Amino acid sequence: QREAEIARANELALRETLTRLEATQRELERANNDKDTLLAELHRQTREDSLTGLLNRRALDTELERECTRAGRYTRPLALALLDIDNFKRINDNHSHAAGDAVLVTIARCLRDARRQSDVVARLGGEEMVMLLPETTAEQAMAVCEGLRGRISAIDWAAHGVPTRVTASIGIAVFRDNDTGAAMLQRADAAMYAAKRAGKDRVTLEI
Ligand code: GH3
Ligand code: MG
Ligand code: MG
Repeated sequence: QREAEIARANELALRETLTRLEATQRELERANNDKDTLLAELHRQTREDSLTGLLNRRALDTELERECTRAGRYTRPLALALLDIDNFKRINDNHSHAAGDAVLVTIARCLRDARRQSDVVARLGGEEMVMLLPETTAEQAMAVCEGLRGRISAIDWAAHGVPTRVTASIGIAVFRDNDTGAAMLQRADAAMYAAKRAGKDRVTLEI
């Protein structure tokens, strides 16, 4: 009789412990999920430009090196387009910084809309944005950028609260043997400045 009572008490205690353990395990699983969500969010934030939602400079550098390596290893075409908004300072000065921000957001959306699956779109900083176009020849990149330039210049900005016309100049560089991301960026930048000198609102291919 006494032994049976002890056994019953032990069983009850064991069951309680088990229930508590199960609850603790569920809590741990929940905390682990929260941690994963936070880490993913942190990772996204370190790669993203907060104003436009495009990739930031840091993430672009990573993608650029990866694509250069791939293009070199498999002898595949790769193009890099650098876009700079024309007379952007005037938009800020004549309207407002907020209007300038709205223009950045809208043009970023144009780039995102023009983007194919494997293309990378990033904000380099200020009013400069980049499209990295794998498997794309100079000719194809010219066509993509001409389309983009045309769509930007045709935007009805009044509907966006900025009563002005906005254009952009784009420079394109294509991958060469032993190229680096930095070298491609530099040549795309030089081509973009050539577009500025030639009168802005145009696309220029590196020479
Ligand atoms: P250009 O046609 O030769 O490109 O001239 P620009 O006026 O576009 O170029 P400039 O480099 O003189 O001016 C760029 C301006 O961009 C200056 C800076 O205040 C503004 N800017 C940079 N980042 C931001 C931003 O995040 N938001 C806003 N609203 N303005 C920015
Ligand atoms: Mg600039
Ligand atoms: Mg500019």
